[in-house]
This record gives sequence, structure tokens and C-alpha cells, in this order.
Amino acid sequence: MSLTVAEVGCPAAERPAGGPAAPYHLGVRLIDSHCHLQADRFAADVDDVLGAARVAGVERLLVPGWNAWSSGAALDLVDRHPWLDAAVGVHPHDAARMTDEGWARIVVLGADPRVVAIGETGLDYDRAFSPIADQHVNLYRNLELALETGKPAILHVRSPVGRRDAQDALVAELRAAGFGGPAAASAFGDRPPALIHSYSGPVDFAAAVLDMGLAISISGLAFRKGEEATAEVASLVPSQRLLVETDSPYLSPPGGPRGRNEPAWVRITAAWAAGQCGIAADDEAALGQFGDGLVGAYDRTFPRPDRRAGELRQ
Ligand SMILES: [Zn+2]
Repeated sequence: MSLTVAEVGCPAAERPAGGPAAPYHLGVRLIDSHCHLQADRFAADVDDVLGAARVAGVERLLVPGWNAWSSGAALDLVDRHPWLDAAVGVHPHDAARMTDEGWARIVVLGADPRVVAIGETGLDYDRAFSPIADQHVNLYRNLELALETGKPAILHVRSPVGRRDAQDALVAELRAAGFGGPAAASAFGDRPPALIHSYSGPVDFAAAVLDMGLAISISGLAFRKGEEATAEVASLVPSQRLLVETDSPYLSPPGGPRGRNEPAWVRITAAWAAGQCGIAADDEAALGQFGDGLVGAYDRTFPRPDRRAGELRQ
């Protein structure tokens, strides 16, 4: 990895033993970089869910689309709640169903200043609901739109348990599209050109994408069997590129609800990630800095022209 001194993450040697840390106390700044609040399961009470997120300390919240409808619905939600951000794109599960008209709609939506990223897109070899060849065509199209718009790609990547084919294929596709090279540098400068959402994969996959300048977001998936490498990954990601998310309504973390996950529960994953960085659960000053770091990483990854750095958005 070619990290600068200023970017070096927390040393793994200082990490305490694993296991979920206690949930944050209120008042620590939080982000949820990935939650599908336009999903049907939030139709009845999304305003309450957002209120609970604010009470928990969530200051930034990104709603990604997975197809044309959900991309438009993400922006509809931002109309009603201007402190949210949207992303538009096509999930690998939807790759085979995407029409030219649907894609044209996503390209139009992608120009909206409240759309801060392209996605979610990526590769899923575990549950290949769309043929893998279609997933690759879809991924490439989404990556090209990210480069054209200067908005980072949000990447989903899953392999069957114990395998890494999708992660290796994703690195190859990123390189082929110009990520980690001059094309991404001219579109993004020193900002992350993409984000691995809901991190899953071996440590050297993280090293490869960090070397290309990507950011990494940790979800409740980190607590699942087979995802043990994510603990070390959390300790390696430079703080300027470390984000957390719920992937609501999915991936509820231990201690969260058994059914629908919600943005307020990001505090469990954030506390766990802080623990991997050597921060004790009762060290309020260090936790406060960690929260500032999360908001800073979000704002650096997803800049919005109407946002002032670090402000609490209304
Ligand atoms: Zn998602």
C-alpha cells in the first residue's frame, strides 16, 4: 500500500480483543453512508426512523438506489428531508432487468447536485440473481458514469463464503475502467473515486482498493461468521477514508433489532470500528474524535456544493 504518513490508520497492535463494544452514548457524531430508506419497509414511518437517527447522533445519511425506480425515490426522499443525500445506480441483482430507458433515467438523475454518488453497483457472485456477464456490463456502465460525473461509485461485492472471485474481478474491472490511474485522478483529484460498501473480503483486497484511493464502509456484516477479516481491515483504513453504515433495512448488528435495521443502529457498528482502532469504550475524548473523523470522511467522499465542511445539517 502506498499510504502517506498522515494517512496511516490505527496500528493493529494496539487493538483490544475483538467483540462488539458497548453502544455509543448519545452525543457522538455519526454517519450512515448506506441505508435504503426508500424501501417499502420504511413507507409507513420513515419520518420517525429519521428522527430516531438524529437522536442517536446521525448527521449524514446517504440513500442509494438499486434501479431506476429506487434511484428516483431516493431523490424524492431528499426533497422531503434536505439533510439527506442520494445516490443513483444499478445493483448487480438488477443488472439483467435494466432497460435502456431505465439507464437513461439514471444518467439524468445523476446530474442532480443532491446526488453525491453513483450506486449502488458492483458484483455479487454469491447470489447471482443476474448472470455474471450482465453484472460486469452493468458495473462498467456505472463506473463510467462515476468518472463522467466526478461522483464516486458505491460498490457492493460478495463472493460465496470462503471465496474471493468477485473481489478479484472487481479490482480488475476498476483498473480496466481507469480507477487508480490518471482518469480517476483527473475526475476526483485526491478524493476517493469509489467506496466499498458493507465491506466483505480478505485483508489484501482492502489493501488493493485503498492503494487505488478508495474509501471503505463497514456494516453489520462485519459481525457475521466468515467476515472475521473485517476487524483487521477496520484498523488499517486511514481515518479520512473510513465510513460506517447500516445497509438498512438489512444487516442488523448484534444488539440491534432482529427484523428491520434502521440508521440509529449504526452506533453499534461505529463503536465496534472504534474498538478495532484501539479506542476504549469509555474514552469519550477519543470517541468524540472518532465521530469527527467519520463526518470528515463522509464529507470528503461525498462533497455537496451546498454543504459547509463539518456543519450539522438541518
Ligand atoms: Zn445496499
